[in-house]
Amino acid sequence: MTRIMCCASCASSLGSMCVTKGDEVFFCCRSLQVSRNHSLSPCLNSPCLSQVQWALQVLRSELLAGLILAIITGAHWTLTGIVGLCGVAKYSKVYFILLHSMKRMTGVADAWGLLMLSGLMQTNGGRAAKPPAPTRQVANDSHEAAWSAKVAELAGRGVRLGDLLDFYQQLLEGAMPSFDPRYSTTNDVAREAVIPMSRVGQDGFALASIWNQQQPRLAERMVTHNWGNRFSHLVAAIISDATGCAYFADVVASLEKLKDFQTLKASLEDSEKIDTTYWVCVFSVNQHASICGGFGPAPEKSHSSPGEFEAWDAKRRNSVSGDIFPLCPCGRKKYFNNEAALTELNKFDDLMRFLAREVPNFVHVTVGDENFEVFKRAWCVAEIVEGSALNIRQKLLMHSTSCLDDNYDKLKSLDIRDCEASRAEDKHQILSKIDDIKGFNEYLGWLIFDADGIFSGFLDGEARLSLVGRLSVRASPSKNLDDMMTFFS
Ligand SMILES: [Zn+2]
Repeated sequence: MTRIMCCASCASSLGSMCVTKGDEVFFCCRSLQVSRNHSLSPCLNSPCLSQVQWALQVLRSELLAGLILAIITGAHWTLTGIVGLCGVAKYSKVYFILLHSMKRMTGVADAWGLLMLSGLMQTNGGRAAKPPAPTRQVANDSHEAAWSAKVAELAGRGVRLGDLLDFYQQLLEGAMPSFDPRYSTTNDVAREAVIPMSRVGQDGFALASIWNQQQPRLAERMVTHNWGNRFSHLVAAIISDATGCAYFADVVASLEKLKDFQTLKASLEDSEKIDTTYWVCVFSVNQHASICGGFGPAPEKSHSSPGEFEAWDAKRRNSVSGDIFPLCPCGRKKYFNNEAALTELNKFDDLMRFLAREVPNFVHVTVGDENFEVFKRAWCVAEIVEGSALNIRQKLLMHSTSCLDDNYDKLKSLDIRDCEASRAEDKHQILSKIDDIKGFNEYLGWLIFDADGIFSGFLDGEARLSLVGRLSVRASPSKNLDDMMTFFS
């Protein structure tokens, strides 16, 4: 196989291009074996499989182009050698017919090969038929006036970007002593800054309500994010969204030191973007009406799955200091899923529907963390699918291109049943609202892998080809070839 690749790249007059295409040619060679072994289908969902099949088809075409170029160029060289050895006169008729026509043929083949290998002939393909949007069970309490009132109340807890930046500056200035922008998670900030700052005597509110002086402020954009992600990355992603950037790694660098942050903040304060309003659960949900007084029941070590207790324990500790978070002493009544109409933890789908109806150009923003953990969180995945099903404009923000390269293939077999939630009852509730789990997973796969899905802004035809080609290799059980792939990537 390696010999074929070398042959194709070296013999072609488009050698340099073939070298840059080397990994793709490898995928093509790999695809021949994969398709022979029928080893793709067991571990890939159908939208992903459709992408892989498209990638393999393009790669096969490119390999064919490389081989044809190699054969024609090789024939040209061989004929030149034979003509020289046979002593054919340079301007004879035989010489002209053999070599001149061969040279022209090589030129045509080069031009065709250039077109094939340049990717200009590729379509940004892999479009599969869009599966039907998943349907959901409507909660019994959702027809109650109390439910609708709570949805409207939540929708009015938008956060101005300016208020978020003021809050972040307070963190850098020491309002949360353990805050370290390089490591502190959103969970840390929720427990050690948001909850204390939003307590008022024995009562407590959503921090957004305090910033908005208890007046409703409809959010223009709703943010889906992972509480285990670094808080500075959440803020960087929101700033990037407001300023129209898809990647936020550069902004993260400006959030580590107060001086750099102040410079960035000053530049944003001169812009109308500073008034962009976001719905972010950590600020928009009243934490005092749910989590502030505890961490949920500890899983019993003898009855829990491996790592469950450790995961619960990690969430009640500051990720920088390792200390257990202090609990809030407020007296605010707590509402969980047993009081479905009044809790603020179970209405994201109705909230999205409400905001999409009330706010022109409403956008759903998903923050892709460095390890794509957001796609493993049950609430986050449910929100992403719901946003798409409601035809809300969706925007994905990513840390950097390398994160996409490193993590895209992790998404190949996403299953909502394998996603996690902080509380078992949340996951149960999410799953119980889905009418057809298989259909939900299929739609999720389409949303991620289809050329019209949420990654469409990041992946042009060639990038998609490369990532999906890599995915196809890793989907195969062949260890030796995986090792080869590591070498090529
Ligand atoms: Zn409280």
